[in-house]
Amino acid sequence: MEQWMISIYLFIVGLFFGSFFNCLCDRLSNNQSIIHPGSHCDNCKHELTWYELIPVFSYLFQGGKCSKCKIKLSFWYPLTEIITGLLFMGSFLIYGFSIDTIISIIISSVFICVIISDAKYMIILDEVLIVGIVFTTICFVIKYGMIAVAYKYLHGLLLFSLMLLIKVFGDVTFKQESLGWGDIKLSFFVGIVLGVKLGVLYIFMGAFLALPYALYVSFKNKSNILPFGPFLISAFYIIFHFSDFFYDLITKLYGGIL
Ligand SMILES: [Zn+2]
Repeated sequence: MEQWMISIYLFIVGLFFGSFFNCLCDRLSNNQSIIHPGSHCDNCKHELTWYELIPVFSYLFQGGKCSKCKIKLSFWYPLTEIITGLLFMGSFLIYGFSIDTIISIIISSVFICVIISDAKYMIILDEVLIVGIVFTTICFVIKYGMIAVAYKYLHGLLLFSLMLLIKVFGDVTFKQESLGWGDIKLSFFVGIVLGVKLGVLYIFMGAFLALPYALYVSFKNKSNILPFGPFLISAFYIIFHFSDFFYDLITKLYGGIL
């Protein structure tokens, strides 16, 4: 098969996965069954027909409204579907026919799910992290072997402990919950993938990316609660795709210290 055909195929598969991730995150975050009932309009409970389930296109054909009660559908759905499609396609365009493409697709999937559930419900789902860790571990065992993977788990544990330490410090200093448990559990996954050296950079970059939004929220709403997950995961994604660059940079800056 031609490369462009696989790219388009992965884009379309990504659209469907994006739609599935939205449904999955909506339901799991609200403690609903994934299977029952079938996809429906949240407003009028109208059961969706097959052509209303086609990602992006059904949204466009229906003019962004429910076909029955005409309530406006969130633009969030087609947007996340397109992003998932682009990430799946991008993974193949960057890594080609290699296991790295599969690893990148798994990470992209975790990336989308964490952003959806954390931005909408301030939750990072355990189910998403567990499935992500299991699939990534399988790929890593194939790519690097068992011993290297055990070593990667140690890195995961280290980054997890570091985040936990920051949380305890933050909770005591600010006398309120500074970091959610989801962010801490997420750091275990990140530690496995990036290693602790890049993992430390991930924490700093996540905080740096969240800063403008945190300032905006605290000025506008006088509140300091915000979903940290989307910023952490964006930092993770940036570092993951440019890991060689960041690894060289850190090594040059700190030499043998870290
Ligand atoms: Zn409806």
